[in-house]
Parts: sequence; C-alpha cells; structure tokens
Amino acid sequence: GGSLEIYDRLGQLIKERGLLADLELEHEKEGIGIKKSGCHGFCEMGPLVRIEPENYLYLKVGIEDCEDIVEKTLMRDEPVERLMFSADNHIYKAQEDIPFYHKQTRMVLKNCGSINAESFTEYVAKGGYEALRKALLEMEPMEVCQSIIDSNLRGRGGGGYPAGRKWSQVLKQNSEVKYVVCNGDEGDPGAFMDRSIMEGDPHGIIEGMIIAGYATKSTAGYIYVRAEYPLAVERLRIAIGSARKHGILGKNILNSGFSFDININKGAGAFVCGEGSALTASIEGERGMPRVKPPRTVEQGLWAKPTVLNNVETFANVPLIIKNGSDWYKGFGTENSPGTKAFAITGNVNNTGLIEVPMGTALKEVIFDIGGGIKNGKKFKAVQIGGPSGGCLTEEHLDLPLDFDSLKKVGAMIGSGGLVVMDEDTCMVEVARFFMNFTQNESCGKCVPCREGTKRMLEILENIVNGKGTLEDLDLLEELSDTISNTALCGLGKSAASPVVSTLKYFRNEYIEHVVDKK
Ligand code: SF4
Repeated sequence: GGSLEIYDRLGQLIKERGLLADLELEHEKEGIGIKKSGCHGFCEMGPLVRIEPENYLYLKVGIEDCEDIVEKTLMRDEPVERLMFSADNHIYKAQEDIPFYHKQTRMVLKNCGSINAESFTEYVAKGGYEALRKALLEMEPMEVCQSIIDSNLRGRGGGGYPAGRKWSQVLKQNSEVKYVVCNGDEGDPGAFMDRSIMEGDPHGIIEGMIIAGYATKSTAGYIYVRAEYPLAVERLRIAIGSARKHGILGKNILNSGFSFDININKGAGAFVCGEGSALTASIEGERGMPRVKPPRTVEQGLWAKPTVLNNVETFANVPLIIKNGSDWYKGFGTENSPGTKAFAITGNVNNTGLIEVPMGTALKEVIFDIGGGIKNGKKFKAVQIGGPSGGCLTEEHLDLPLDFDSLKKVGAMIGSGGLVVMDEDTCMVEVARFFMNFTQNESCGKCVPCREGTKRMLEILENIVNGKGTLEDLDLLEELSDTISNTALCGLGKSAASPVVSTLKYFRNEYIEHVVDKK
C-alpha cells in the first residue's frame, strides 16, 4: 500500500483501541496522535513511519505491518525491528543514526518529515515565525538586507548570486510598488528539492518571502509553482490561508505597520519559465519567453517593477539566518558558499532520495556514505550535477567539495541540486543525447542559436548513438557548443551544451568508440 493507505489503516487501528488523540487540540495531552508529514527524504525506503518521541524510523512499511506497529510499539513500547534499517548486523533504531541521515545537516529540511505541513500550530511550535517577528519588530529593512548580505547566502536556484545584494538593490529602487517572487518552477529531470520543501514546510518559504518583502519595502509576493506539483500548490494554499487568519499575511502584519500578501501562480511546466524574465512574463499572463537584459529584474521585473526573485530553497534559508544570525549561518559550509544545500540523488545509487549537507561536502561522501554507494555492486562512473544545464563529474572528482566555486572550476555547476548517479554500464553519449533532447524540447525558440543549434546538436548526437557519426562530428559538436553558449539569449541556451562539453571532455573515448566501432 501507499503512504496514505498506511496512514488510514494506522488511524483506524489506533481508533479501534480508543487511543486516538487529536493533535490540533491543545488540551488533548493523552493518547496517540497520527499525522501526515512531508517527505523524509529516504525515498528508496518508503513508505516511512516515524515514531515519536523515540525517533524510530520504520522503512518500507506495508499494510500488513500496521497491526504490529500499533500492538508492539504504540501499546507495549517495543520496536518492530524488522522494519528498521539494518546493516552489518546492526539495527539502527533512531532516524538520526541511520547512515543516510547521520552525515546530513538538515536545516532547511528540518521540518520536512517531522511536522504536519498543513498545521500552522506545529510550524509555530517549532519556532516558526519567530524570525519574522524579530525582523518586523526589531530591525529596519536595511538591517535585514545587511544580515542577509553578511550571511553571504547565495541563490540556491542555479547561479549562486548573493541574495542579500539582490535585496539591497531592490530596496534602493525608488518605486511605490515592488514585488517578491519565489521561483518554484523546478524543472530539471531528477530534481525534487523545491517540491519537497513546498510540500513539507510551506510556512518556511512564506516566512522567508515576507521577510524579503519587508527588507525591500515590497508590496506583494508571488509564488510560481509548476502545475505538475498539485500537492505543493495545495499545501501552499493552506499555509497562506492560515497565515492570513493569524495576521501573518495581509494588512499591518503583527501590528508592525507593514502590509504584504502572497499569491500563487501555476506554471504550465515549461523549463524556460525557470528563467527570471520568462517567469515574470508568465505571471503577467504573457507567453513565458526570456527577454534581453538589461534592464535587470531588480530594476524592472514583474510588471516592470523592481522585483526580488529567489528560488524556494533560498527563501527557506532566510528565517534561519534572521533568527540565528549571520555568524551562526556562516558556521556551516565554506567561506564562499556558506550554509547547506539540498540535493536530490537519483540514478544507479542505493539510497536515492532527498538530502541536505553542508556546502563543501565531498562528492564521495554524498554518493558513498549517504547514498550508500552504487547499486548491485557496480562501479561508479559519473554523476550529472545541475541537470541539463550542468555537467558530469567523474571518479577524479570524488574528493571535490560540492560548493559553487569548486564546481565552477571544473566546468560543472550546483544548479538547483539534482545529482544523477551513473554506473559503469552507462553510455555517456546517450546521457548527452538525453539531456540535449530535453533542452531542445524546452527551447522556447526565440533566438536562433538555441532554436537551431540545439536541433543540430541533437541530430548529430542521435547519429553518433545510432552508429552513423563521424570523427568530424565531434569537432562540429564542439564548435556548435561554443557558438550556442556565447550567443544564446538566456541561461537555457547558454548552458544547453554543457552536458555535451563535459562528456566530450571526460569520455571522448566513448564518443570515438561509437564513431569508429559501428561504422
Ligand atoms: Fe529561448 Fe533558447 Fe533563446 Fe533562451 S536561449 S530565449 S530558451 S531560444
């Protein structure tokens, strides 16, 4: 059964025994509560059930296990060991001890999988909206911007541009109307970090956005979410509704004199809409196409007004920084990339899932310690990082620290944080073809280099994969990569060739084998 069936079954069994408590009612101190949470991250092992306060984590729970969970654990306080993670003759009872979680530092994902994402009370009980209170009642807008500048929080959506610098640029703009936009248009194949945060801790994003609104003297916020994420939309809607009800959104928030509200916009799942100017065009009801810059979004963004545009994970970091201070925040990660980063690990790895580690964590720790190594005892070959705009890393990069600058040096990028792990059997030319096919499909067609160039590159890659390529094709691929990245209008085109460039760099032999062998 799926998680929802298990939720229903556990609820039914607890109720039958007269033990059910209503967690939303303050006076219900007795009994057992059951709640739906967001993603715990350990997707490979789902459905997951977490028992509190013991912190037991039950894995791969089936309908048939529910009886035991209730009888043994809930009524007699005994763990159901067969549902616990075990390795090397050791049973890991507490969630924190399981190797998958042990090496993680879950800050942004802290509430995901532990609170009921639909409950305002639970978010507040975990210290939620304390940062907002502090910002609105104790700090001036410039101080809030300065705090984010000092923390050196860099945009988690791809480029790593310092968020505080963006905010202070918007604050300086002389305009009555300004906007805060949250980019929840996660489109990379294999990436689901933002989705999990929206589904698992929607108030964290809302709190970050209101703080950004106050810091930049903005009037309204928009969250742009893919329509393919209906649960994220629903949870955000519920969270916005309860925030309004509790005076957290709307007029005169917390009696501070600051007014701000947030709307949700559903995107139709076009990858290019993750690009700032295409995203704002889409919210305005126009076709989601990028435009030439300048003007930049901080000067003329949504409806040509100054706009702060950050992604989901960036906003989710904001309350942590304001509440605990920028020095605290800089205690995590590296000097130039402070804090943590959420990654989605997929592909040929044992523990696929959603993880969060301090910036600067070595690639091998992520793949082997947290990810549990390569499936079926195979050898590691490469990992595609940053999705279709990113590049691949190989065995020689296993010691590489995952942070913005280290990755840039080797021609890759963190991007939004997708990690697709590949084993020795993977054909790297096919990988390049797969990503080029994706990008080509998503090209909006506005500019020639991207529209025509990606088509041509895809044709060549298809030929090579089908054994019809020539050695000259490899030079042509390189030439086209160069031209497209130098002349395309937006980030999608500029980075479209990255998977080809990096696979050609590290696995040129494979391309040559395809060309020579199959002729
Ligand atoms: Fe559109 Fe590609 Fe040009 Fe971007 S680079 S504007 S996606 S055609």
